[in-house]
Amino acid sequence: MKYDFKLNKVIKKIKEKNAKNVVLQFPEGLRPKAIDIAKKIESKTNVNVIISADSCYGACDVADKKYYGIVDLIVHYGHTPLPIKTKVPTIFVEAFSTLDFKDIKNLLKQAIDYIGKDKKIGLVSVAQHLPLLKKIKKYLEKKGKEVVMKKGIGTKPGQVLGCNFSSVKNLDVDTYLFIGGGNFHALGIKLATKKPVVIVDPYEGEVRNIERFAKKIMKIRFAKIIKAQKAKTWGILMSSKPGQLRQELALKLKNKLKAHGKKSFLIILDNIVPEFLQSFTGIDAFVSTACPRIAIDDSYLFKKPVLTPKELEIVLGERSWEEYELDEIIWEEGNEN
Ligand code: SF4
Repeated sequence: MKYDFKLNKVIKKIKEKNAKNVVLQFPEGLRPKAIDIAKKIESKTNVNVIISADSCYGACDVADKKYYGIVDLIVHYGHTPLPIKTKVPTIFVEAFSTLDFKDIKNLLKQAIDYIGKDKKIGLVSVAQHLPLLKKIKKYLEKKGKEVVMKKGIGTKPGQVLGCNFSSVKNLDVDTYLFIGGGNFHALGIKLATKKPVVIVDPYEGEVRNIERFAKKIMKIRFAKIIKAQKAKTWGILMSSKPGQLRQELALKLKNKLKAHGKKSFLIILDNIVPEFLQSFTGIDAFVSTACPRIAIDDSYLFKKPVLTPKELEIVLGERSWEEYELDEIIWEEGNEN
């Protein structure tokens, strides 16, 4: 898959800002392009380009605190910006995929067969494929479908993030059509709407629905919740990443656990990975206030249950299993959740 790195725009900004040192941040999938991009920027400017090799999973990862005093500009690739103020000037370059409509036309035909008689379609994707949605919408409409795309809180029409499904909630549609890879976003749409979700996956070149995957994940989550019901001592995980830090929520959870007679400790770290948690032998289960994907995507890596705040509510009997939802971090101008 090819992406548009908007090199001319980046070079123009570097010159405008008269930057001396710039850091480039990439999500893992785009990092193989880093050297080539750094080379091109260096050949057209006098700036020192530094490539960040730290993890970068979303716009929540913008590393301005980390690189403050080291660089005077951050170029953050692969994500749409969140309304977070940064200390270091930051440019977001979405790196839209250059995937063409004709590359997925056959998959769309299959998707229409898959969808069958359902008429009203909610069209959804992630940042990389947003420019394609207009053409896909037109195509579906020509095929007799009614297409709905709504703007979410802090997201563009039809866009979801792994922690923000506001654009798909309460839509009057029969089925959602998700354009993109992986299963996590489609799972989130399914859980946020309880409606069928068909995936057009240009990476695998296939059309599938989310049902089987959703059932498998729900089984795993159910088992983790049951196991966590025996936990007496909890670790409340907080991330120091600017867009993932939910300190207020972490404190609320501590009070909640106390009210239910459970002990808990606040634990802050940058990346929530199993090797950093296993030394906390006195903790029976964790609840994560950081990226909502960690508990779900990486659950098989953790020996002890790592739950989301909404799953903790189920453990404590404050939410029913039928009300299961993915956790979300919805950023509005200056506000979290
Ligand atoms: S919190 Fe997680 S899902 Fe949300 S933007 Fe960051 S990495 Fe993506």
